[in-house]
Order: sequence, then structure tokens, then C-alpha cells
Amino acid sequence: MNIAPNRLGQPAASQEAILDALFHPTGVDGVYGRSGAYEAVVEGLGALITQARDPRAEIVRFPPVVSRALIEKSGYLKSFPHLLGCVCALGGDDAAIGAAVDRFDSGGTWTDGLQASDLVLAPAACYPVYPLAARRGAIARDGLIFDVASDCFRREPSRDLDRLQSFRMREFVFIGAPDAATAFRDDWKARAGDFVDALGLTSRVDPASDPFFGRGGAMVGRFQVEQALKFELMIPVRSAEQPTACMSFNCHRDHFGETWGLKSADGATAHTACVAFGMDRLAAALFAAHGVDSARWPASVRRTLSL
Ligand code: 5GP
Ligand code: ZN
Repeated sequence: MNIAPNRLGQPAASQEAILDALFHPTGVDGVYGRSGAYEAVVEGLGALITQARDPRAEIVRFPPVVSRALIEKSGYLKSFPHLLGCVCALGGDDAAIGAAVDRFDSGGTWTDGLQASDLVLAPAACYPVYPLAARRGAIARDGLIFDVASDCFRREPSRDLDRLQSFRMREFVFIGAPDAATAFRDDWKARAGDFVDALGLTSRVDPASDPFFGRGGAMVGRFQVEQALKFELMIPVRSAEQPTACMSFNCHRDHFGETWGLKSADGATAHTACVAFGMDRLAAALFAAHGVDSARWPASVRRTLSL
């Protein structure tokens, strides 16, 4: 359901109040410990998303780290180098590792002994699923649906509640024929408003683009909007005037199909689409709309989330 911009509700709770009541600071912007009351809402959201899942979906849960080679091959490094976090570790022999620790002990820096590893931090939940599907051979005629999730990292330090460096993402991914991929994306785009209505949230769907790097990237972003490849479900978290993207609906066309050799039985390159639920942004939107004390939320919302 599309709600006109002026119908978005003003948050009842400020982001400062939500941070104070439900998060534990760690000394790093955008990285927080989470309270039990907050996690109960994230779990309730997870169960609700599971109820909405296509029965055909295959469930895969990924760790928060991904093969660096996979992310390089996927094009993420080229498109979003400014957001990518790489896992580094002290390298060399015991003497080199010991020397780095000694430098730290004597008040110096140890980080100049770091070497990049073969891992990066997962920037989104769906990247590893495409090579996984490709390894199995031809894509079934009706396509494949996956339910994936992981902790994600994007290097965007910020004090805003809706801009975390470390956050949780759940996604439904479709791999199959071009028309079916677009239909899958459009179906979720149409359903999402009703999905969050049941949570007492106001929302609208906006055309969107990804934050591609550099000047060339801005052009790619404009192309994405022109071609209607990405939409976002906007819900007030900080304010009704500047709502936050809490879900995204993405068509990748043949990008991942070409990259990983995803093909149907007749040899046609598969198209892919994904629908992403930002678990932490959806939870933050709920606390913003209904207040920091979930015990006092409307009974229907508490029931929907099994609170
Ligand atoms: P996308 O891949 O479309 O950029 O991200 C998918 C979803 O992840 C977004 O719609 C949003 O809900 C969530 N997300 C993206 N960036 C952040 C962030 O910085 N903080 C939080 N909490 N969620 C994010
Ligand atoms: Zn995705």
C-alpha cells in the first residue's frame, strides 16, 4: 500500500531515547550491544518474515564473513570500495607477530604488522547464494527461491540510530527467468506496505539507487532509477520528513547470472532479484513509532510480534 508522504507518522520516541533505553554503547559509532527487549522485537520480526516466506524457499544462514575472492568477483569492490571492510590479521613468523605485540606494549602501533586475509565482512546477505546455486547446475524451470540472512558490515560510522556499521539483514532471493525475477520483486514491493501496516507502521515505497562509489558511480545510480531496478520501503525512524529505508526490492538483471554462470536448462542466463529486510531498521522503526517500552505498545502489534 502506498501512503502519501504527508501521511507518514511522526516518531513518538526520539533516536536518543531509543539508544538510551535499548542499546549499550561500545565506544564505536554505529556498533551497539542490544538489550533483551530490543532482541525480542527482532525475533518477533524474524518469525513474521518466516510466516510470509514462500514454502518453496530453501533456508541458508551465512556467517558475518565472506570469501574476499567472492566479493571481488561479484563486483562489490568496484562498486562500493568505500563501504567494504576487510579482515586483517598479524602475518609473518612468530618473531614478526611478537614484534608487533611488543610495539603495542611499548606504546607504539601494532597495526602496521597486519596483512589482508582471504575474508571480508559480509556487506549484504545474498552475495554467497549465487555461486552456491551455480554449483548445482541448471536452474529449475520455475526458478529457485532462497531465504538467507547474515550480520552485515558497511563502513559508515554515524551516530544515527538508523545508520549502523554492523546490522542484521534477512533476504528472499529469486533466481530464474527474467520475467519471473521482476514479478517476484514486484510482488514483494506490493505486499510490503501491508506487511508493515500490521505492525502499526506508516510507510511509502520510493524509487532508489545504491550508493555507488565516485562520479562514475553516480551515473550508475541514475541508470538504476531510470530502469526502475531498485525500490525502498521508507518508514519514519528519525522523522516523518526524512524516513528511513527499512526494506529494499532489487532487480539485478543478469549481473549475478553472468558473473557466476547461472543458466536455465536451455542455456539462457538466469536473472536474479532480492528483497531485503533491514532487521535493525525495522526494529528501530517500531520503537520510534510506538515508544521505547514495548510492554505499552498496541495489543495488536504485540500480538503480531508474539511479545
Ligand atoms: P541495501 O542492500 O538495499 O542497501 O540494504 C538492504 C537493507 O539493509 C536496507 O533496506 C536497510 O534496511 C538495511 N541497511 C542498509 N544499511 C543499513 C545501515 O547502515 N544500518 C542499518 N541498521 N540497516 C541498514
Ligand atoms: Zn540482496
